[in-house]
Amino acid sequence: MLTANETKIASGPLSQMSQFDHEQVVFCNDNATGLRSIIAIHNTTLGPALGGTRMWAYASENDALTDVLRLSRGMTYKAAVTGLNLGGGKAVIIGDARKDKNEAMMRRFGKFVDSLGGKYITAEDVGINTKDMEYVHMETKHVSGIPPALGGSGDPSPVTARGVYMGMKAAAKEMWGNDSLNGKKVAVQGVGHVGSVLVDFLVKEGAKVWICDIYEDRLAAVKNTNPSVEIVNGDQLFELDMDIYAPCALGATVNDDTLSRLKCAIICGAANNQLADENVHGKIVMEKGIIYAPDYVVNAGGLINVYSEVVGFGRDYALSLADKIYDNTAAVFAMARAEKMPTYMAANRMAEQRIAAMANLRTRR
Ligand code: NAD
Repeated sequence: MLTANETKIASGPLSQMSQFDHEQVVFCNDNATGLRSIIAIHNTTLGPALGGTRMWAYASENDALTDVLRLSRGMTYKAAVTGLNLGGGKAVIIGDARKDKNEAMMRRFGKFVDSLGGKYITAEDVGINTKDMEYVHMETKHVSGIPPALGGSGDPSPVTARGVYMGMKAAAKEMWGNDSLNGKKVAVQGVGHVGSVLVDFLVKEGAKVWICDIYEDRLAAVKNTNPSVEIVNGDQLFELDMDIYAPCALGATVNDDTLSRLKCAIICGAANNQLADENVHGKIVMEKGIIYAPDYVVNAGGLINVYSEVVGFGRDYALSLADKIYDNTAAVFAMARAEKMPTYMAANRMAEQRIAAMANLRTRR
């Protein structure tokens, strides 16, 4: 039986790291600038750990640690399944992005990133913008997602939308034996940077598209470009008689409530963490006969875009890699079918298999 002190150690940072086999976690503090940050490196088997920096007013240090460990692990899986030579990493800065951020803090953070010598490459995430990345870039070259004027790859959303569209076509092929979306009824939730470009692809292919968003101006802009789309409000969305639900706004929209109402054959969209609980809702979706295109497989275009900056290739090649998301998604479906497992589980397994195969390769001459 553990003593009180040993129990404390068992739930400490090292134990949390060992739960999902994280390689390294760096705690960064600078009283002068107010920087309090955690950089997590999950796995570098495939390459340097790449992942954005999130600034958030976490309720506790432990919440920040839990988040950065979870997010960095997710990056390992996304890079691996997409076939990129990148590992998984992530950073969090504890604080309110609207009040607490300043140039000195971001540059100090850049110095910490630099001290890792390229093992971790940072990028933008929630609460961090391109200007912040410019400051980070003043102190380290291990940063992606810098402004195009400084040699950056620019807005990733068109590449992400292209990948989601390709994943959707692969899902259509799996469901109907034909990847055409012509005449298919698709509901797109959230028409921001990614959703609006996805709508362009869908309308061009002849799909019947419903859109919803919390901002009237977003809806009006999309309706203006694509007059055939129909606007619905958020509550109505899950009552529609649709073929495909495309979540492009928030996470966790595939949950007990929506699954009791959703009438669709396919779920495929850009949002991260669409399944409220992977183990529960991934299984329910399978039992209902719905094909779920795993979010991190189909929305990898954003990562492909920052990877283009690291490796040094242009937008055309990035888009051609996004097209390969079709084959990746199809491979996930094939494994799920063969092994009778939920698609999210098949995606995880594919990522793990690639990491294991490449780890094995590294020991060979
Ligand atoms: P965005 O902020 O530009 O667009 C999101 C849209 O969703 C906004 O227009 C917002 O008003 C709308 N929205 C918010 N809450 C809503 C609700 N309850 N109902 C309907 N609409 C709502 O973001 P984005 O860059 O288009 O990204 C969309 C999603 O895809 C996010 O979850 C993001 O994390 C994920 N993602 C984006 C990229 C990328 O390259 N931008 C890459 C990978 C994943």
